[in-house]
Amino acid sequence: ANHLLDIEHLSTYFYTEEGTVKAVDDVSLQVRKGETVCIVGESGCGKSITAMSVMGLIQGPNGKVVGGKIDLDGTDLLQLNKNERRVIRGKEIGMIFQEPMSSLNPVLTIGRQIMEPLVEHLRMSKKEARKRAIELIEQVGISRAEQIADSYPHELSGGMLQRIMIAIAISCQPKLLIADEPTTALDVTIQAQILDILRNFREETGMSILLITHDLGVVAEMADYVIVMYSGKVVEEGEVTELFANPKHPYTQGLLRAKPILNQRQDELYSIPGQVPNPLELTESCYFHDRCEHCMEICKVRRPELRELGTEQKVACWLYEKEAALHV
Ligand code: SF4
Ligand code: MG
Repeated sequence: ANHLLDIEHLSTYFYTEEGTVKAVDDVSLQVRKGETVCIVGESGCGKSITAMSVMGLIQGPNGKVVGGKIDLDGTDLLQLNKNERRVIRGKEIGMIFQEPMSSLNPVLTIGRQIMEPLVEHLRMSKKEARKRAIELIEQVGISRAEQIADSYPHELSGGMLQRIMIAIAISCQPKLLIADEPTTALDVTIQAQILDILRNFREETGMSILLITHDLGVVAEMADYVIVMYSGKVVEEGEVTELFANPKHPYTQGLLRAKPILNQRQDELYSIPGQVPNPLELTESCYFHDRCEHCMEICKVRRPELRELGTEQKVACWLYEKEAALHV
């Protein structure tokens, strides 16, 4: 198939003193070549943990990928050793996070940090890498690139640093870019510019993007396909136009109803009444039942499976079981 990334039945758990948290619970998703898939949901829904699982960043005794398969262009990422994983991460998968400062080294110049993966993964000479670093800085829309290359992270604004992170992330022309809330910390003008840069790169290079966000404005701008997560599970997914025009899951409907005025910055997105369930106290119910205005008896005792509706849309909700059955 033309899937670049194929995640099947991924489960990532965290072990706490109070019990096991199923942060990601049996999640499957695919990203095609050149496609942008957005994972959306409120904090704690498992969207970042899904991304971190793909990047091989879930390590240590407390967190673990306990099941599933993550296939990137024919390579099972879960079978790689530490070193192979690091190479894939620099070369095949680019990453950007919400806080660029936390990923940059404060004592190295910007230029050096862009050169690093070029030297390591593409075996460029220092001179070639420097030249390419300058080009990359220009490509992310920064002028006076030479001067920027010689400056240190603390000398640049948040928006500039996020551009630099993009330059580093795309420097080796990765097949997949994973961006976790890349514009959340930025004001709306800068946010629009950053999204533009990402879109342009995608068009020029054909790379795929897995974008994690709580911001439906960003989803509308960027996504081809949308995955909605709630309490570690996918509750709905579909083509962006379809999903926005015709959301099926009451949670997705709530998200869209609560969609704030476009371009208004927001940290916590919407106000569907109620709270996500305590991850330590999950039961066999639909995890959304406490907040759902359509809750039925069955919802409290059995969790619905994700099922395909007639189109490319899938939903996990008892309201559609009959409809789903018609299309089986
Ligand atoms: Fe609401 Fe029931 Fe659907 Fe859950 S399964 S979203 S509680 S209607
Ligand atoms: Mg997050």
